[in-house]
Amino acid sequence: MDIQLTFPLDHDGFLRRECPHCVRQFKWHHGPANEEAETQPAPAAYHCPLCGKPAGMDSWWTQEQLEYAQGVTIPAATREVEQGLRDAFKGASSKHVRFDCKGGIDAPDVPTPLTEPDDMVIVTSPCHSYEPVKVPEDASRPYHCLVCGEAFTV
Ligand SMILES: [Zn+2]
Ligand SMILES: [Zn+2]
Repeated sequence: MDIQLTFPLDHDGFLRRECPHCVRQFKWHHGPANEEAETQPAPAAYHCPLCGKPAGMDSWWTQEQLEYAQGVTIPAATREVEQGLRDAFKGASSKHVRFDCKGGIDAPDVPTPLTEPDDMVIVTSPCHSYEPVKVPEDASRPYHCLVCGEAFTV
C-alpha cells in the first residue's frame, strides 16, 4: 500500500514540529535552507530549540499531523482490505458455492488537509546558521541549536 502524505509548509518553507520531551511546538526549515546546508550530512538526531533535548528524525510529529496521517491511512487501508475480500470471494466462487460481497465497508472520510499559518519568528544559531528554526514569539531564551543543541540567544 502506497500512501502519499503531505504536510503543509508555511510561506517561508517551514514545517511545524512538536518536541517529544517538552511537547512544545516550533518549526524547522524543510529541505536544505541554502547551499551550505546541502553539503552537510543529515544528522541522526535533532535538538529541540526550546528545551535542547535530542530526538530521532521521526519523533517530531505534532498531534495534528499524527491525527491527519491516521485519518488518511485508515480509509486507504479499509479500501485495500475491502478489495482483498472481493478478490478472495471471486476466487472462491464455484458452480456450487457463490460468495457475494454486497455493499462496501464504510470507510471514514479522509480529513481535510492541514494548513500552516505564518506564525512564529525565525532564529538562527551562530554555530549552525544554515539550519534556521522558527520559535513561538513568547518562547523563553536561550534557544538551542537544532543540529548540536548548543544554547544561544538572539
Ligand atoms: Zn523540547
Ligand atoms: Zn549548532
